[in-house]
Amino acid sequence: MFRLFFLLLLLIELLTAKPYVLLISWDGCRWDYPARGSFPTLKMMEENGVTATSLQPVFPSKTLPNHYSLVTGLYPVHHGIVYNIFLNPANGEQHVIKRKARSLFPAHWYGGEPLWVTARKNGLKSASIFWVGSEVDDAARRPDYWSYYDHHLSHARRIEKLKEYLALPIAQRPRMITMYFSDTDDAGHQYGPESPHIAEVMARLDKALAGIFQTIRAAGLQDSVNVILVSDHGMTALSPQCVIPIKERLAGLDYQVNGRGPVAGFFAEKSVLDTIRQRLKPYARMCDIYTRENLPAYYHFRDNPMIGDLVVVARPGCFLQWDAPLQSKGSHGYDNRFLDMHGVFRAVGPAFKKGYHTGMVRNIDVYPLVCRLLDMQPAEVDGDVLRIEHVLKNNFQE
Ligand SMILES: [Zn+2]
Repeated sequence: MFRLFFLLLLLIELLTAKPYVLLISWDGCRWDYPARGSFPTLKMMEENGVTATSLQPVFPSKTLPNHYSLVTGLYPVHHGIVYNIFLNPANGEQHVIKRKARSLFPAHWYGGEPLWVTARKNGLKSASIFWVGSEVDDAARRPDYWSYYDHHLSHARRIEKLKEYLALPIAQRPRMITMYFSDTDDAGHQYGPESPHIAEVMARLDKALAGIFQTIRAAGLQDSVNVILVSDHGMTALSPQCVIPIKERLAGLDYQVNGRGPVAGFFAEKSVLDTIRQRLKPYARMCDIYTRENLPAYYHFRDNPMIGDLVVVARPGCFLQWDAPLQSKGSHGYDNRFLDMHGVFRAVGPAFKKGYHTGMVRNIDVYPLVCRLLDMQPAEVDGDVLRIEHVLKNNFQE
């Protein structure tokens, strides 16, 4: 009798097993990096889950706009993080990547509804082992569990945090967790995307991924956790012959500029904007210059005044030089249709098809996908679950 009762309890537990989502980002992992060597954990994910040819970033293909689009389903013009470094021309306030140690980002920069806010609205706890937008000065807009970003925190310590979260009592345990690893971006900038260093870094990340799956198994949650591996953008080799000395060319002009690297948005008097165009004419083969209204429609990068009135977009492999001479061997930020800018998308877990290959998927569709996986009511977003739901098992119900 007692045994029967116990079995019944177990059955109820199994039938009501709640899904989890672990969203992992490998910063700057280009779509083709997984083919650079033999990576057993990635192979396991491919055999047992979903592999997309590439993940298309949003424009500009920079770190902050893309990480925040991944968790909001919005284009940067709608979530507000339009570049990495930028100011609001209305009041001169500056958004910077680096803050003083242990200080928070003003929450008002980070618009839209990030996954952790959606989770809270739907009665779920969330955690971040680093993610753009998780360290804001409004507790209602942060995950329940989060950490100040620490670039040097080892892979092992990051996995230790995951272990701690998965060991929490069920009522406190986060069901949506983000993890972030910068290694591929660091190596791509320093050595270039074609360097043999990339394969070494991928091997280390693959090992960390193995540790993550081991941690999930040890917690007994292997049948509940859906793991999604993404990257924010890819990387392309910089050409030393294609450097635009933009600061030098625009010397003496009165302007403000948002963005760095391949994309820069200018604010100035109309006459100054005309002069900027004139002075950059000799570089017409290295960059495109648009007024905000004339930016290509597929960039979805017009409807926000913080973009700038005149926008210079370097051609792939070219570089806008501000202060420092060219030191990086690789960069990103370019046209998001350029394949070198595309990242990776892998997913495995109870909800995902097994051994399923698909073409390109879009960064902005990840938010509605996670909402579907966790049975959460999504906010109104630019992403569309209908474009990506084919990666889920046919019998997976909301
Ligand atoms: Zn990045």
